[in-house]
Amino acid sequence: MASQLLTRVLQRGLPPSASLRSSIRPAVQAPLVQASLALSSSNKSTPPAPLEEPKTSFSEVLDRATNIFFLTELMRGFWLSFEVAMKPKVTINYPFEKGHLSPRFRGEHALRRYPNGEERCIACKLCEAICPAQAITIEAEQRADGSRKTTRYDIDMTKCIFCGFCQEACPVDAIVEGPNFEFATETHEELLYDKEKLLANGDKWEVAIARNLAAEHLYR
Ligand code: SF4
Ligand code: SF4
Repeated sequence: MASQLLTRVLQRGLPPSASLRSSIRPAVQAPLVQASLALSSSNKSTPPAPLEEPKTSFSEVLDRATNIFFLTELMRGFWLSFEVAMKPKVTINYPFEKGHLSPRFRGEHALRRYPNGEERCIACKLCEAICPAQAITIEAEQRADGSRKTTRYDIDMTKCIFCGFCQEACPVDAIVEGPNFEFATETHEELLYDKEKLLANGDKWEVAIARNLAAEHLYR
């Protein structure tokens, strides 16, 4: 179609506004016309060759028949299943098995005590100030010896983003994020932790928390 259009245009001649001079126009036109005519005639004279269907060889037929007769695909499938069953498993049987936890894991919060049972927290409120989620609320009072202690230490665990800033800010390692990650609840209220709950967490997880802090002391 394009070659026919080109032929027609060139046979009619270039328009007068063309920059080519009329004296050289025939010399340019003649080869182009011949080339386009040859192209169109060659297109007409050679029809597309018909597609031949691929022939199936005797060995291919034999292979296919053997596969069907001896159920080799089924056997290969069984063998693959056996191989996969023998490989070491990458999954674990949670909750009866649990994976490794890094000492830096940031789980449920806990308030720690000294070995003599005294609370570590000195109510400096650095953790409350640094908490980006404003999840911590502290109220404090003075003891008889002049030191400070908290009368209220609340963490709204539904606000907490587990950034670990409170643990990093605490000068006495009182508030920490322990290794416990199994504290899902059914109600919102159960995740509003008060001081008693946090101290109980500290008592329960003290051994693991102390071990993790000791493992990380060079990097803190
Ligand atoms: S872990 Fe981060 S968000 Fe959660 S209480 Fe501590 S400072 Fe706030
Ligand atoms: S937990 Fe630590 S940072 Fe927070 S008030 Fe107590 S001593 Fe200060």
